[in-house]
Amino acid sequence: MKFRFINARILTMEDPLSIIEGELHVDGEIITYVGAALEKVDTRFDQIIDCNGNVLMPGFKNAHTHSPMTFLRSYADDLPLQEWLFDKVFPLEAKLSGDDEYHLAKVAILEYLTSGVTAAFDMYYNPHLTAKAALDLGFRMVCLGTVTKYRESVAEMVEAYKSINGHPSSLISYQLGFHAIYTANEEILKELKVASDELNAPIFTHLAETQSEFDTSMKEHGLTPTAYVDSLGLWDHGGGGFHGIYVTEDDFSIMKKHRLAMVTNPSSNTKLASGIAPINAYLEHNIPVAIGTDGPASNNALDFFREMWLTSSLAKLQTSDAAKVDALDVLKMATVNGAHMMRLNNADVLAPNKYADIIMLDLAQPNMQPLNNIMKNIVYAGNKTNVKMTMINGKILYYNNVFYLDETPEEIYANAQAITERIKAEITNG
Ligand SMILES: [Zn+2]
Repeated sequence: MKFRFINARILTMEDPLSIIEGELHVDGEIITYVGAALEKVDTRFDQIIDCNGNVLMPGFKNAHTHSPMTFLRSYADDLPLQEWLFDKVFPLEAKLSGDDEYHLAKVAILEYLTSGVTAAFDMYYNPHLTAKAALDLGFRMVCLGTVTKYRESVAEMVEAYKSINGHPSSLISYQLGFHAIYTANEEILKELKVASDELNAPIFTHLAETQSEFDTSMKEHGLTPTAYVDSLGLWDHGGGGFHGIYVTEDDFSIMKKHRLAMVTNPSSNTKLASGIAPINAYLEHNIPVAIGTDGPASNNALDFFREMWLTSSLAKLQTSDAAKVDALDVLKMATVNGAHMMRLNNADVLAPNKYADIIMLDLAQPNMQPLNNIMKNIVYAGNKTNVKMTMINGKILYYNNVFYLDETPEEIYANAQAITERIKAEITNG
């Protein structure tokens, strides 16, 4: 399909950030033109969309999530993190079977589309099922290994790395990862190091999320979580960490040395009372930061506007300086930095030959008026109701509150509800 978007305000996210008025063309999976309005075009377009002055920008990159965990949304809340994870989350996850993750991930994908998210970095078991859900709905998904001492082996991860990355569709890819140092053991991590060397592949993990993780690492290894992972050579090919709250000056040096990126998950960190990530310090050290929702069990919404607002506000609160971590920094984290961390270098900005992963934000809403500063409006005043369109890989999947998919949302909700009921019944019946 060939699309011509006219009368648009375009935030390409290329440096220096600015909004240009003009038009944008899409041919198949890619963008072919971004620039001033053209008086005459030679191409025949399948669809001409008048943006009426609304914003076109790259879709948000959800750089850390656990999409299939929709079945745990609002099931185990208001509990301390360790109790939440070990007593509630892990036992229910153990009951997942068959193609459960396939159906559960689809609910999250619908929510991403309504939130302007065009790609997710998804850490979960059975990545083939999440990848298939993404493929079937047309969503861009980077699946991530989730090896622990309880489940998923390094060998399974290597198989997934080869088969998902070998798939002909550009929509799905795979990276190596482990859940966290406290759910792994040294033997597994050494095996993972060998795999990473063989594949020349970066490694990602939950990192320094809680004070207890930090204290345990100091006690058991005499090293911070960041230094411990580094001591095993796991970042020799780069990668990064999710959360990154409890870090030291030496940890920043490790991150810089291996060109790591960090993902902040502010809703999850506030709701689980984990702490506030030092975003301003990361920026001062030139360590790239991306943003993630974390999973629906801990957040519980997959709402990127909430994450952007919290990323900035918590950094201001933490530094007692309202000038720190401004809206433009946050927009970069939400788009370009996430894309680069997820190895989606062709989905970072709006420019010719980049993937057509584009959202349209509606400015004709009271929360966007009057128009003083559109970029600040998006971060500080924006919300999901402003997402008018979500296009991925040149296909409109969501437009004016309607999904354009091969199945209805009602079918997807019904499947997820049935799985959730079955798992709860299995837990109740022992
Ligand atoms: Zn997580």
